[in-house]
Amino acid sequence: MPSTRITATPERLLREEVLALHAYHVPPSSGMVKLDAMENPYALPQQLRDEIARLAADAAINRYPDAGAHSLKEKIRAVTGLPQGMDVLLGNGSDEIIQLLALAVAKPGATLLSVEPSFVMYKMIAAFAGMNYIGVPLTENFELDLHSMLNAIGRHQPALVFLAYPNNPTGNLFDADAIAQIIAAAPGLVVVDEAYYAFASSSFMPMLARYPNLLVMRTFSKLGMAGLRLGFLAGSKTWLGQLEKLRLPYNVGVLTQLVAEKLLQHHDVLLQQAEQIKQDRTWLYERLVGTVDVRAYASEANFILFHVAHAGQVFEGLKQRGVLIKNMNGAHNALADCLRVTVGTPEQNELFIRALQESIHQSKNGN
Ligand code: PMP
Repeated sequence: MPSTRITATPERLLREEVLALHAYHVPPSSGMVKLDAMENPYALPQQLRDEIARLAADAAINRYPDAGAHSLKEKIRAVTGLPQGMDVLLGNGSDEIIQLLALAVAKPGATLLSVEPSFVMYKMIAAFAGMNYIGVPLTENFELDLHSMLNAIGRHQPALVFLAYPNNPTGNLFDADAIAQIIAAAPGLVVVDEAYYAFASSSFMPMLARYPNLLVMRTFSKLGMAGLRLGFLAGSKTWLGQLEKLRLPYNVGVLTQLVAEKLLQHHDVLLQQAEQIKQDRTWLYERLVGTVDVRAYASEANFILFHVAHAGQVFEGLKQRGVLIKNMNGAHNALADCLRVTVGTPEQNELFIRALQESIHQSKNGN
């Protein structure tokens, strides 16, 4: 009998929104001064590294990790100063928590709403989960457009709203009153994503008790643990108890649990590094503002967004000089000719500024 079997191809089998996606791009960075991904540029003190080596040597990696990560969670609660009655849910990076939240609310026709330009994973993960996505444009100064936000919330009734605070890639903190009004108006959950909390002057963590539909998400990636992959969601037990059901049982590995707990015992070391980065952010911002043809945006994070003519050429010029930053040109209309640089060590920042000036000069001379 002739076979009627249809060959499985990605085009036939995959959801349209998956076919339409572009994978999250991570460029090669070997040998470069790496200022593209908001990492902490500092190594750990030798004594702490030795302690970690001993912990790793003794770790039971033949066993599954503690599924509830009890000891690590206790440490996170303590260093976070979690408000009374609140709990945390752990993720393999906060990216995983965004995905977990989307999966949890993705009823047919459900909407995820955020602002633009902002962190691209909100939109991507809406597609992963089969949710509608609405991106409300920020104002020209990258502030919340409260009127448009409230309108969009009324019209689309989003199950989930994400607000990065400070925002990535713009680096600013949105107006806290505007966020409060959004939380009050939203019919669903509002997640304030505080990935850059360690470098910012304000937080919504103390507001958790006031708004039952508010969740606050953080990551330890920017504080010096990007390689461990650890983020958390803070909120009421009512919400987290439900969301825990979607967390894969062993999403935070043995080594991550051990090392993160050790590092949080030395939280002061990490906070001191963050403090240094904040000081160097001021230095870097002033240099950028003082560079001809550059318009820099003030930042409460560990990176700075700036505008420069011929950004694409300047970005390539930096790369030729061994400095990798992030080219935001083309990511969104509002980011035309924008680049984003992560604050590095003082030496890296100086190297970057010198390479930037040379690259701008080169791009003007058209070679
Ligand atoms: N939220 C925001 C706003 C971010 O910028 C990032 C990282 N770029 C994340 C979440 C995800 O961080 P991670 O998965 O490393 O915790």
